[in-house]
Amino acid sequence: MSVNCLFCKILKNEISSQKVFENEKVFAFYDIHPQAQTHILFIHRNHTKDINEMSSDAQSIADIFQAIAQFTAESDLAQNGFRVVTNSGAHAGQTVFHTHFHLLGGGPLGQFGQRS
Ligand code: AMP
Ligand code: ZN
Repeated sequence: MSVNCLFCKILKNEISSQKVFENEKVFAFYDIHPQAQTHILFIHRNHTKDINEMSSDAQSIADIFQAIAQFTAESDLAQNGFRVVTNSGAHAGQTVFHTHFHLLGGGPLGQFGQRS
């Protein structure tokens, strides 16, 4: 846990969120500013700032993707398709420095990765 981290506060229920999935390792909730019909954030209960820091513990990466697989398999997302995005650092526009994975779907998605 990191004291001033927004997503750690969500994990501690100090800030409310709309939970969609949780297990012992992973928590998922609706993004407050959805960029797709379905926009969910998956986070690990262990605080890391970005994917590179998280990658030092390979199990935590597996925990996230197993949670996404389990969640999508139980919804219509697995059938219709979805996108997983993680932003790291300034150029990618990371704004919350607790590693998170955006799960986007619920309808056709636009192209991504373009210069703005
Ligand atoms: P990123 O820009 O990749 O760091 O993503 C951070 C995401 O967190 C953005 O899509 C925000 O809309 C979302 N966000 C920020 N605060 C909250 C919150 N309190 N509850 C849910 N989502 C949030
Ligand atoms: Zn955190």
